[in-house]
Amino acid sequence: MSMEVAAVRQAVKSCESCRGTGWVIVQLEKIESVEVCSDCRSELRAEDRLERASIPSRYHKQSFATFEKHTPSQGQALLRAIDFTEAFPDVELGMLFHGSCGVGKTHLSVAIIKGILAEKDVTARFVDEAELLRRLQYTYGQNSAETEQDVLQPLRRAELLVWDDLGTGRPTDWVRETIHMIINYRYTNRLLTVFSTNLPLKAEMGSARTPARHSLSERIGERLYSRILEMCEIVRIEGQDYRKTVLKDGMDFVRSEVKRK
Ligand code: ADP
Repeated sequence: MSMEVAAVRQAVKSCESCRGTGWVIVQLEKIESVEVCSDCRSELRAEDRLERASIPSRYHKQSFATFEKHTPSQGQALLRAIDFTEAFPDVELGMLFHGSCGVGKTHLSVAIIKGILAEKDVTARFVDEAELLRRLQYTYGQNSAETEQDVLQPLRRAELLVWDDLGTGRPTDWVRETIHMIINYRYTNRLLTVFSTNLPLKAEMGSARTPARHSLSERIGERLYSRILEMCEIVRIEGQDYRKTVLKDGMDFVRSEVKRK
């Protein structure tokens, strides 16, 4: 069971309205009757919504509260993400988090989805691009239990979609067309999407450090790239790779403490 789901269960147990019984006594014109506790019911729906969002288990503990601000841009990104979560669905634009690996783009995207699902009765999905393309290819096999539409439909329609690692798929015509189909549907229907990408958005022509083929616009194609710019606020996150620095420093510290004792 995820931490988030456990937290929701705990909230139900300690519900002040029904003291964890799941029932409340209501008085209607001098007649007392018993009804299902509406506070608990909404908590349970939050739990269902969270399970349906398909957040990978390695991100179950991540939230706004566990996001650390090591650089100014991480602080700004955190604020933008919280604003977006609080205002959702009354927001014009989705978000595009970009920056190098391990700076917390997925962490914040997951925190957004969890924050929204904890409070609001909406449909939300998390999808990792590489995983999506693998799943789609699998549906073309004879033994597949799900069809292409089974995979695509929830992503097209979710009121909030978190699209992780945009541009990782090898840029074949099929990959571009598939991604375009989903995103274009969302664009036309004004559905909000939060993207993250490790790629530089646009390569400076002639730059040796980021040749054009490694930029997001080259990977996904200019047409889709400009559509995404129309759909999203761009949020750059700078910082060190958390896994290599912060976690490693922590381990080094623990090791040196152990040795000292
Ligand atoms: P990105 O999507 O930018 O490549 P992730 O969000 O997947 O990076 O981060 C990799 C791991 O490091 C995750 O476990 C994440 O929770 C953690 N992490 C990254 N940045 C932060 C941060 N600023 N605060 C707390 N944890 C972080």
